Amino acid sequence: MNILIINAGSSSLKYQLMDPDTGVVSAKGLCERIGLDGRLNHNAHGRKVVKDIPMPTHSEAITATLNILMDPADGVIASVDEIDAVGHRVLHGGMEFSESCIINEDVIKAIKKCIPLGPLHNPANLMGIEACQAVMPSTPQVAVFDTAFHMTMPPKAYRYAIPTEYFENDDIRRYGFHGTSHKYIARRAAALIGKTEFKMVNCHLGNGSSLSAVKDGKCMDTSMGLSPLAGVPMGTRCGDIDACVVQFLCNKYGMTVDECLTMLNKKSGVLALSNGLSSDFRDLEDGASKGDEACKLALEKFYYEVAKYVGAYAAALNGIDVLTFTAGVGENGKDTRKAICSYLTFMGVEIDDEKNSIRGQEICISTPNSKVQVWVIPTNEELMIAQDTAELVKAAK
Ligand code: AMP
Repeated sequence: MNILIINAGSSSLKYQLMDPDTGVVSAKGLCERIGLDGRLNHNAHGRKVVKDIPMPTHSEAITATLNILMDPADGVIASVDEIDAVGHRVLHGGMEFSESCIINEDVIKAIKKCIPLGPLHNPANLMGIEACQAVMPSTPQVAVFDTAFHMTMPPKAYRYAIPTEYFENDDIRRYGFHGTSHKYIARRAAALIGKTEFKMVNCHLGNGSSLSAVKDGKCMDTSMGLSPLAGVPMGTRCGDIDACVVQFLCNKYGMTVDECLTMLNKKSGVLALSNGLSSDFRDLEDGASKGDEACKLALEKFYYEVAKYVGAYAAALNGIDVLTFTAGVGENGKDTRKAICSYLTFMGVEIDDEKNSIRGQEICISTPNSKVQVWVIPTNEELMIAQDTAELVKAAK
């Protein structure tokens, strides 16, 4: 089976052609500068191809993608019919979607209804969907939502303590993001430890970071909120912050709320704490090793806040059996994992330094004595999207 995975942004469109059974990616690429001039970056057969192709809209980007996938030299398929389905990553499913679904007119309407909740991403995701529908009308399309995995949270986890009318009239609540990654890790953890009933905390630590508390495969709580700004400090996002900070800054500096939020989303996090040095953890580790105090503080703040969330979720679940690390920092940052786990010895977490230094593979890094199994599991959101898409399309046949 061939699933085309599409992640459409406002001026870009990422694609992968994947076999959902093996996870093998036969081709992948990126259309960028959509609406400006247009450039296609394509990888297949171990070669990279870059072509300037006019892309006034997402429609030309999809056409360029299909053309290169069918190209006699650089392509991997002979016709569009070899694509069994398209899986679209959609940021915000609001209260409308608790799982992935086959796209029809009602689904499009519901994704549009979620635009106020995901104003930056949902319109772009829709452009990708509508472009595919126009160019390949007989191929099934599936929407996979970043929020869906978290819809099993109980009200005590998802409700904000603000007047009920904002929840009832405006759907203001915690949603959570990175759901496709959290779902993939929860499934892999179950397969790796050979159990379906267990309590875990997953730490998705990348440029954006979020944690989730998962019981028997279902999300019970997660650190991001209405938007991806909430939770632990991230590359450029501040994470949890007192709303009065926004009021103070807007009043004192004459900023609009939107300007203030842009600062909190794009100029904050470890980038801000390192005095603007970098949002990349490798640069921060490098700076800290040379004695840069701001880099040290940025890293210490990150470790501290992640560990606090793990502790909170361990309390929420009344103990955990498994702790998992994933995404760029979670998979590669051995110092990060060690520092976070050093806060958790009170729960009986004990990691093996030698195992913790192995990179790029699924590995249990805790000692046999540890009361919590600690795992590093590389995430694969595209595989999760491909598998959800394939399952739905097979079931509909
Ligand atoms: P992601 O958003 O999941 O792609 O993760 C990106 C982040 O992973 C980058 O900002 C880096 O800070 C981090 N990262 C990648 N490799 C390493 C590494 N070897 N050590 C520490 N952090 C890393």
